[in-house]
Amino acid sequence: MSNPVKFIDEEENNEVMEDVVSKSESKTSDNTEDNLTNFYQVELPSKGYLGYPSVIEYRDVVFGDEVKIKMATDETYIRTVNKVLKGILNNPSFYDDICIFDRDYLLLWTFANSYSPKQPMQMTCQSCNSKNDVTIDLTELNVTDIDPEIPVPFKMDLKSGESIEVHLPTVSDELVAESLYRDSKEYNFDDYMIQSTIKVKDKQFKNQKQKFEWIIENINAKEISVIKKFHERFSYGVDDRIERECENCGEVNTGRYPFRLEDFFIYSGPEDDFEYYLRLNKKT
Ligand SMILES: [Zn+2]
Repeated sequence: MSNPVKFIDEEENNEVMEDVVSKSESKTSDNTEDNLTNFYQVELPSKGYLGYPSVIEYRDVVFGDEVKIKMATDETYIRTVNKVLKGILNNPSFYDDICIFDRDYLLLWTFANSYSPKQPMQMTCQSCNSKNDVTIDLTELNVTDIDPEIPVPFKMDLKSGESIEVHLPTVSDELVAESLYRDSKEYNFDDYMIQSTIKVKDKQFKNQKQKFEWIIENINAKEISVIKKFHERFSYGVDDRIERECENCGEVNTGRYPFRLEDFFIYSGPEDDFEYYLRLNKKT
């Protein structure tokens, strides 16, 4: 199974993460989770173009969230991560409709702010093979906003005579793909994911499996490549590419930040925070 947190390759319209996010300590009185919790606000890179709000509230990651993520297995990882994130966002009714590019952005943002934006990782030099310990500042990763010209939905008439509507992958599409993939590994996760983003108009299917079978038989190769191009052309969000100079030979290496939530718990332990409390506790 692929990591649920995938980032994209878009060069244009890059903005630094910090610029698109406003962190305000706006306390909301009517949140159901916990009236004492601070809620902050984050602006999504989809900017409201996908039918849900552009600004979302979130609270700090708490111990309970951490425990749930730690308990997740590979099998339950996607479902657990979404459940935990939904709670952090105060359970918005539209959570399942959120595009996974926004979801990934939200994960990165909420966890980077609750733990530390600075994450250590190791990069192996492509030239001399030496291992470099580097620190990545997650708030410095580039973020691309959605193209406002995105058609919602993207409509196509198929050669088979049917009409379809395609959208960018959402949380609920990913859950469908995950369940199809769990049942049968005959196709890869991405193939299941593509089918999830297609609505066949005026056609009833018994279940997702039947819909998948219909799609692989009725959408021709040209049409599926148009669908893939739509996804590529309008993808947006966090760019996880990083560049670092090798300490040994000076070669500039490019890599990707391997974002896994577990890493936050293992490494981030904000040393500064600990030192702060230690100073306060100092015997005089
Ligand atoms: Zn090197």
